[in-house]
Amino acid sequence: MNLLLFGAPGTGKGTQSSFLISQYKLHHISTGDLFRKALGEKTPLGLKAQSYMDRGELVPDSIVIALIEEVLADIKSGFILDGFPRTLAQAEALDSLLKNITLDLDKVLYLKVPESILIERIVGRRVAEKSGHVYHIKFNPPLKKGVCDKSGEKLIHRNDDREEVVKQRLKAYREQTEPLIEYYREKNILFELDGCGSPKEVFPRLQLMLSIS
Ligand code: AMP
Repeated sequence: MNLLLFGAPGTGKGTQSSFLISQYKLHHISTGDLFRKALGEKTPLGLKAQSYMDRGELVPDSIVIALIEEVLADIKSGFILDGFPRTLAQAEALDSLLKNITLDLDKVLYLKVPESILIERIVGRRVAEKSGHVYHIKFNPPLKKGVCDKSGEKLIHRNDDREEVVKQRLKAYREQTEPLIEYYREKNILFELDGCGSPKEVFPRLQLMLSIS
């Protein structure tokens, strides 16, 4: 099973991916996580991506595609793509990369959430950087303010989760990523689902989509 979780920033792609991974044996490929890891380690890739991420803009296609090419080369079985592709050029590059390694994208699961809800979801998000656990100050607060329940790490507010940057990220989504909905609809692999509600309410809807052939 090769899946793409599609949707605007804050629709819950990362959270739903973690549910899917614990249920099915799949590789999680999140370009956002890969960039943040590279940035934390101050690698050349991270330093190249930083200014775009800080401004809420998309990292240039050539950088993202080279990164994905490297990651996919190591994957032989199922995967979940999260946050990639985000432009038409990336989607086309993905098609040809998958063709070269004789893999197919089976389903694109499109999480739909109204923009007004997204801003509140993202701005209130707090993350444990190393373990990747995600909280929300209102909808899913940790037991102790500012501390991860599971790892004990200090929770951070991602730079690009600040309101002014979030607005730019949503603009980039509308202008550059949204056209991919039509791209995948035409390929007949797009499955739309309501991403409103708590993560645990959304997951069964996602499982239902996975059971449809
Ligand atoms: P995310 O955590 O997926 O929202 O990604 C955080 C940031 O990383 C985005 O706002 C972009 O600056 C960058 N990024 C992640 N994935 C991509 C992509 N596929 N194309 C371009 N930029 C990306």
